[in-house]
Amino acid sequence: RQQIVRLHTGAADLDALLGGGMETGMLTEVFGEFRSGKTQLCHTLAVTAQLPVEQGGAEGRVAWIDSEGTFRPERITKIAEGFGLDAEQVLENITYARAYNVEHQTELLVQAAALMIETRFALLIVDSVTALYRSEYQGRGQLADRQGHLCQFLRKLQRMADEFGVAVVYTNQVVATVDPMAVFRGGEDKKPIGGHIMAHASQTRLYLRKGKGQNRVAKIYDSPSMPDNIDAKFAITDEGVTK
Ligand code: ADP
Ligand code: MG
Repeated sequence: RQQIVRLHTGAADLDALLGGGMETGMLTEVFGEFRSGKTQLCHTLAVTAQLPVEQGGAEGRVAWIDSEGTFRPERITKIAEGFGLDAEQVLENITYARAYNVEHQTELLVQAAALMIETRFALLIVDSVTALYRSEYQGRGQLADRQGHLCQFLRKLQRMADEFGVAVVYTNQVVATVDPMAVFRGGEDKKPIGGHIMAHASQTRLYLRKGKGQNRVAKIYDSPSMPDNIDAKFAITDEGVTK
C-alpha cells in the first residue's frame, strides 16, 4: 500500500482547509455552481499530483473521466509551466477519456482500474460524476434507479481509492433548496445533488463559491471531523488555482 500523501491544491489556504491537501486513498467531492471553479481545480490537481512529494505531489499518473467535455489540454500546459514542469510530459501522464452515458462512464472506470494495476496512478478525476445521471434519469419515477446506479458507481470509486491509493476527486452540481433549515446551515440556499448517497460517499465535501472576479471561496460541507464554517479564499488565474 502506498504511503498517504496530501496533494497540493495550488492555494495554501485551501490546502489548510483540507488538512494539508487532497488526501490519497480518499474520496473528495467538489461541488458548486457553474463557474465556481470545480473544473479549474481539477486541472490544477492533475498537475500537482505529478510533483515530487516534497513539493506537494504524489509522483503518479492521473486518470480523468470527463462527462461534460470541459477538459482543456492547454490549461494543463499553462499550469504545468507555472510549476516549472515539462508540459508535454505532464500531459502524457494524464489518461483522459470522455464519457457519453452512465454505462460508458462505468466502463471507463473499469478500464482505469485495469491501468492502475499496471502503473502507479496518484489521482482519479471524475468531472462531473452526476451530470450524466441527471440527464439520463429525469423522471421522479426513475429516482430510485438513478440513486441505485450512482451508489454502485461511487462504491467502485471507493474501491479504487482503497486498492490503488489514488486520491479520487469528483465534481457535482448544486440545486436551489427550499429547505427552511438551510438558514441554520449558514444561510446557503444551494445544496449538492445526489441526496444521501452522495452525502455519505466521500470523506470530504468541498463547496466552492464564486467571489468577485477571479476570487473564489471554499468551505467544508457537513463534516464531523473538519472545523465548520471556516472559509478558504483562493483565486483562479491563467496558472490555475492560486493563493
Ligand atoms: P465549474 O467547473 O465549476 O463550472 P470552472 O472550473 O470551469 O467552473 O471555472 C470557470 C471559471 O474559471 C471562469 O469563469 C473563469 O473565471 C476561470 N478561468 C478559466 N480559465 C481561466 C484562465 N485561463 N484564466 C483565468 N481564469 C480562468
Ligand atoms: Mg466544470
